Amino acid sequence: MKKNIPDKNGHFGVYGGRFVPETLIYALDELTAEYALARRDPKFLKELDYYFSEYAGRPTPLYEAKNLSRALGIKRVYLKREDLLHTGAHKINNTLGQVLLAVRMGKKRLIAETGAGQHGVATATVAALFGLSCDVYMGEEDIHRQALNVMRMKLLGARVISVKSGTGTLKDSMTEALRDWVTNVRHTHYVIGTVAGPQPYPEIVRNFQSVIGREVKTQVLKKERRLPDYLVACVGGGSNAIGLFHPFFRDKKVKMIGVEAAGLGLSSGKHSASLGGGSTGILHGSKSKVLEDKFGQIRNAYSVAAGLDYPGVGPEHAYYQDIGRALYVSVTDREALEGFKLLASCEGIIPALESAHAIAYLRKTGRAVRKDAVVVVCLSGRGDKDLHE
Ligand SMILES: *Cc1c(COP(=O)(O)O)cnc(C)c1O
Repeated sequence: MKKNIPDKNGHFGVYGGRFVPETLIYALDELTAEYALARRDPKFLKELDYYFSEYAGRPTPLYEAKNLSRALGIKRVYLKREDLLHTGAHKINNTLGQVLLAVRMGKKRLIAETGAGQHGVATATVAALFGLSCDVYMGEEDIHRQALNVMRMKLLGARVISVKSGTGTLKDSMTEALRDWVTNVRHTHYVIGTVAGPQPYPEIVRNFQSVIGREVKTQVLKKERRLPDYLVACVGGGSNAIGLFHPFFRDKKVKMIGVEAAGLGLSSGKHSASLGGGSTGILHGSKSKVLEDKFGQIRNAYSVAAGLDYPGVGPEHAYYQDIGRALYVSVTDREALEGFKLLASCEGIIPALESAHAIAYLRKTGRAVRKDAVVVVCLSGRGDKDLHE
């Protein structure tokens, strides 16, 4: 048997763990204990399944993109259609799981932080569904940039709290949300939106998102009678990618490729590639690869895809990179826009700009991926939100 990852302290190799104020330890222990019970409770799993299928629209199709395959010169490219889910992206898999945990713990309020607003919308959605109050921290800058998502959250009954401290962007919102949680932990659950944060979040979020990879395994075995050669997904914090990768961790022949946002280019400093151009550090309560300046201050991430501009990455990805289990690459804004146009024009599917990074990587390196390969790409979200770009 291979060791479980993470270990009981939430370490993925040297990454992960808990770097939080003492006052949060109780809440993290409570969440750890509740999740340990819930994941073995048939009633919880049945309820999660129910909302996944009846509310969110699972299972999502594994669509064979024949025109795209031809255009890329690859034998078969399948798209895992997370873009077809309610609210338009994979984030709902995680917020549905976490709201069920919050209800089990008797919490009455959800808080979240959001950059582009996608995770805020997914959290406000489940808060409305379960009748919980919801406060979303969002940087002042981001509120201006993402007015439509702010309107959505308000319509769903959430309060959007403008964060003016620091640079008024995502990293400042994370600090404010943690501060709120410290003060209100008795009745409040903090919904982290990706496979980051202190233990137990990276594992919990991974397990909720792993429904993606489990479905892909069943679907691809049915269609191909074998496992795929490559799995490809974009990486912001890394939740859609780990959701696809993790169920294949022990299938050594399946290669995994995570695509980060190179923004204006890695050398420009304006990017979001924590694995490709970052260093080991602490962010959001855990240790991983982060973007920091020479004084150890967290830098702002940048990408044309708002959902990718997170200045860190989940600890499990840093670990997969260290042990060589997955390969991490990056594509620029310009390349991502080409991927966006390619998928729209040849398949009639407008992808989120985040997901377009994964398409763009294949477009760029068709040759590196064997011609006779079977490839599964996670189409993490739909692109209506990105048309103005
Ligand atoms: C938020 C988002 C991402 C990035 O988040 P991960 O945690 O890396 O998956 C990717 N795609 C879409 C559509 C998103 O909304």
